[in-house]
Amino acid sequence: MDRIFISPGPVYEPHLSENDYLWARAYHAAGIGKEDIVLNAFSYHMVAAGLTFHGGLRRVGATVIPSGTSSSQQQVQLIRDLNVTAYTGTPSFLMAIIQKAEELGYDFKSDFRMRRACFAAEPLQPSLRKRFEKEFGIDTYQMYGATEVGDVAYECSEKQGWHICEEVLVEIVDPETGKKLPKGCLGEVVVTRFNSIFFLFRFGTGDLSKITESPCPCGRTSYRLNGIEGRVGDALKVRGLFIAPSQLKKIQEIFKDVKIQLIVARISHEDILTIRLEPKEASINTIPIEEKFRTVFKDICTVKIDRMEHVQHGTLKEDDRLMIDERTWK
Ligand SMILES: [Zn+2]
Repeated sequence: MDRIFISPGPVYEPHLSENDYLWARAYHAAGIGKEDIVLNAFSYHMVAAGLTFHGGLRRVGATVIPSGTSSSQQQVQLIRDLNVTAYTGTPSFLMAIIQKAEELGYDFKSDFRMRRACFAAEPLQPSLRKRFEKEFGIDTYQMYGATEVGDVAYECSEKQGWHICEEVLVEIVDPETGKKLPKGCLGEVVVTRFNSIFFLFRFGTGDLSKITESPCPCGRTSYRLNGIEGRVGDALKVRGLFIAPSQLKKIQEIFKDVKIQLIVARISHEDILTIRLEPKEASINTIPIEEKFRTVFKDICTVKIDRMEHVQHGTLKEDDRLMIDERTWK
């Protein structure tokens, strides 16, 4: 065993072996290699992150600047002085660094050489990704894992789901029963990593996702995780299938002129799923989009809508919840 660190609790945990390929596949898939000088903005202090990502970067031959949680101003200085080509850390911290650089009078895209970023530990919002890529010319990649089990999945240049690492066994389970769900269903990501140092059997991540089995155009043959749809506690289970708020938000992005509310009730031992549609402008009629809405909803959430209610503009208040569970379990 080479290291011991602290995870929240506090719990002392051994580090996985230095010989493990932790995160190396992810960095390789993101195109990082021996030509790169990478700023590692994950903390190196007593937590596993910094050293773990450092190890992955070294495996692909990159030179690492262990900047950890230094101030954004210092990070800007390092990027400039050392000709940094890539970043690894959280997306929000990279945005803070970019903003600091612009504040200091730099044009991030033309004054610096940073062209790639590999993110973990925080979801990458699509709007933020667009800004990094379009405004600042940084190609972005998502990596997924947990302190306890190391790397689990990573994005390739196709950016259509995350390839599951070979060393881990990923199951999608019903968080209430722990039982594996049928193919393509949304459920909790449960990970088993085979190793001789820190063996965790069926580690529940608390994250919701589903698995895609179709081959990826990049040529890798592993199954992929279809992003993270949220945390287990945020989802509602309807007729045995989970619906996460993030899925509704995706639908909302397709139907920009309407507000959505989902209600689940239980009538004679059956779950009844109702969708309320409200036009954002009083002049919009929501009835003609009903059919398309039902199709899109079924595609994204895999659950069928039982009832659609078309409510008047102004019915749903700003603080109304997106999903309401009216079921009582008596
Ligand atoms: Zn791929």
